[in-house]
Amino acid sequence: MTRTWQKRPHSVRAVLARSLATVTAAALAQLACSEPAPPAPNLVLITLDTLRADRLGSYGHAPARTPVLDGIAAGGVRFQDAVSQATTTPPSHASILTGLNPARHGLRKLHGQRLPEANETLAEILRARGYTTAAFVSDLPLGSRTGLDQGFDLYDELDEQIPAGAGEAGDTNARVFRWLDDAPEAPVFLWVHYFDPHHPYYPPTDYRDAVGLGDADWAQKVLPRNTNRKRPDGRTLKTPAPKVTENMSRLYDAEVAYTDAAVGALLARLREEGLLDDAVVAFVADHGEQLGEGGYYFGHWDVLEETARVPMVISHSDGRHAGAVVEQLVATIDLLPTLLAWLGVDASLDFDGRDLTPLARGEALPERPVYTEQFEYFPVRAMRGRDWMLRQAAAPRARVEDAEALLQPRTRARSNRASPRDVVAAEDAKQALSQALSEAAHPEERHETEWIEVPGAVRAQLRALGYTDEARGPDR
Ligand SMILES: [Zn+2]
Repeated sequence: MTRTWQKRPHSVRAVLARSLATVTAAALAQLACSEPAPPAPNLVLITLDTLRADRLGSYGHAPARTPVLDGIAAGGVRFQDAVSQATTTPPSHASILTGLNPARHGLRKLHGQRLPEANETLAEILRARGYTTAAFVSDLPLGSRTGLDQGFDLYDELDEQIPAGAGEAGDTNARVFRWLDDAPEAPVFLWVHYFDPHHPYYPPTDYRDAVGLGDADWAQKVLPRNTNRKRPDGRTLKTPAPKVTENMSRLYDAEVAYTDAAVGALLARLREEGLLDDAVVAFVADHGEQLGEGGYYFGHWDVLEETARVPMVISHSDGRHAGAVVEQLVATIDLLPTLLAWLGVDASLDFDGRDLTPLARGEALPERPVYTEQFEYFPVRAMRGRDWMLRQAAAPRARVEDAEALLQPRTRARSNRASPRDVVAAEDAKQALSQALSEAAHPEERHETEWIEVPGAVRAQLRALGYTDEARGPDR
């Protein structure tokens, strides 16, 4: 696949920030009459699009072929119950990169919006501290027009003119490896985004062969992404036969296996370059995928267990907390504060997320519910507690108390409502969740959403990927 390759010039602000950081560090070192501080660890952040937590071996999926990701988990901390803050790609990544819930960072939709500049991203925080920052993304909706490029010296994205819309992991690695050929200056913050587990599930032949579906061309022809309900365009899609769903599920596993191998190739090259000698390596997914649950097929339309729960792992080359498994409910907005703590960076910013290191050490942190939303198709938001979830079909500006909210056991499918007896037992939980939902949906301080034009060519590519193409007003 062809892709753009442009070194973005440093912004004046960023250059000033880096110079200031250097000057300050030098002045401090002189004052202390000591050697300069030891070099900061590198950071490698891998985001895996559309990867359900329960499809990795380390999360209990027996047929999984994910030795690399499982290996990272074995050498680090695995968060068993992590929930993403949006089940749409750009808002979820914006939460990962800012440590904020969507209502605060202001990016809520797949396209047509831009992450407001006033946000302070992980890349901006680290670049101000002398890091070389580079991102490689494999999906059009994560292009720089989304504003997620804030703070990156290099933001390597797909060419909007190429009619594909998504890049394969092998191509993504090739782009990263070309950057590594130029020996970037350490410390490095590298973000690599892989897209392969996203529909359509069509991994290279070897991987289709491995699940006995080497000649599965039919899958692409007969199975569009399917919500099994009336779509906004008025069409109702048929429910696939069980055998077809099973095959699609195996192809999904094959895509995950292919992605795992690509992560292995990436780490091998980084190791060769010495960039993993002193490094934090983390991976997380932006959302999961529905493979038939709740009547949804091959998409991520809601904020249910299979779409909102994601794998999340942090490891350090010094082996800290290796093999720890955290069972407590956590959020992907917690990743950023935790990474900063592991890198020894004090950003003094007001994140919605929190440093999870105490949990990694086996200590307690107060339990708290986690917010998640999906505003692209059938707007819905939820506050998820350990046992209960308060879920509400809603417009972002509607008040929580004005709409009917559904309390349900959080681990069950959408259709399984709580029994009346359960609801009585959970009345306290409901009140707490309702208040937390209201606060997360309508925070006192927030960045106003910025709307942008999306070129027709990009809209056409999004349609080809199975996304609808509705322009919706800011009140949705
Ligand atoms: Zn995604």
